[in-house]
Amino acid sequence: GTVLITGASGFLGSHIAARLIDQGYKIRATFRSESKSQLFLNVLGGKNIETCIVADITAPGAFLGAIVGADFVIHTASPFTFKITDIKKDLIEPAVEGTTRMLEAIASSSNVKRVVLTSSFAAVVDPTKGPRAGYSYTGPVLKPRVEEDWNPMTPEKALENNLFGYQASKTFAEKAAWDFIDSKARNGKTPSLVTICPPMIFGPVHPASGITKDALNESSAQLLHAMTSADPAPTRMPVFVDVRDVAQAHVDALDVAKIPNSERFVVCAGKFTWAAIKEIYESGAASAESMSPANDYYSISTKKIEEMMGIKWIGLQSSVKDALQSLDVKSKI
Ligand code: NDP
Repeated sequence: GTVLITGASGFLGSHIAARLIDQGYKIRATFRSESKSQLFLNVLGGKNIETCIVADITAPGAFLGAIVGADFVIHTASPFTFKITDIKKDLIEPAVEGTTRMLEAIASSSNVKRVVLTSSFAAVVDPTKGPRAGYSYTGPVLKPRVEEDWNPMTPEKALENNLFGYQASKTFAEKAAWDFIDSKARNGKTPSLVTICPPMIFGPVHPASGITKDALNESSAQLLHAMTSADPAPTRMPVFVDVRDVAQAHVDALDVAKIPNSERFVVCAGKFTWAAIKEIYESGAASAESMSPANDYYSISTKKIEEMMGIKWIGLQSSVKDALQSLDVKSKI
């Protein structure tokens, strides 16, 4: 089948796209710039790849052309950056309207069987409850979706700071997708939706993404920053997952035999702290002491996705080391 994938120039999207091709899918990848589209083609070759430019994902009809003939959609494009001037225009609108434009395109097509949306643990975590030691986010396996955890973000609170703005962008975009699927389901004809909610994503940068030491995505930038700062910051969301596992979850989510219905999945490999990452950089491994602040925090239950997809999580040490290697940063040992 053909997969329409957005955000293929991104840290995560490039890994998903490369894996789709490896697993025999045809892809149609959208980019907002010609240069990133060219780089992607140069690195991955042209076989089974179509590219197209969607300069503004919020524009009316943005994906109406790109959707034609697609059997599946993976929508990853969404801003993850805090270097912004306007929370509404730079974070919330591209996330929510970009998702809405994609959903409208899907509604215009009779082909699409499955939509996979990259959401975030930011849409799951309840920041008002604090570190919540002992709590496990998303709770029991196969619990009905409506009872799962949601960030209680409001449009007013979203404007208080950039972090809330980002959390709002992911929460509102994912809610828009569920509302759309639920309303279509009532009309009888609907593709199913799988949302993937990752916490901090680390791991290697894919060469097709064009990410470099000088032009880093947000989570890789935070990773490198932790290694070089004299005094690592306290870790406010100490849960992570490797980019390769998140990519595999997106690809597996297309398998309607494995995942027959709409699902919301949290993905997580375990805990981390910035101090532990600095230690891996400096000595090759993290001590129990550098990890201990993470014990005061919630954890994430990945039982559902493990049972349905059989993913084995890549650990923090490999994730950090492979990130360094991909960016050609020599570790200290
Ligand atoms: P990147 O910044 O590397 O990639 C983001 C992708 O989205 C790029 O392809 C980018 O295009 C595109 N994009 C960003 N803003 C816009 C916009 N305004 N209009 C159109 N396209 C846009 O980040 P990630 O790969 O990390 O993020 C991918 C997805 O994963 C996002 O949905 C993000 O919210 C989610 N996520 C990421 C986490 C992480 O730790 N990295 C954690 C949880 C969720 P371009 O290359 O042209 O800028």
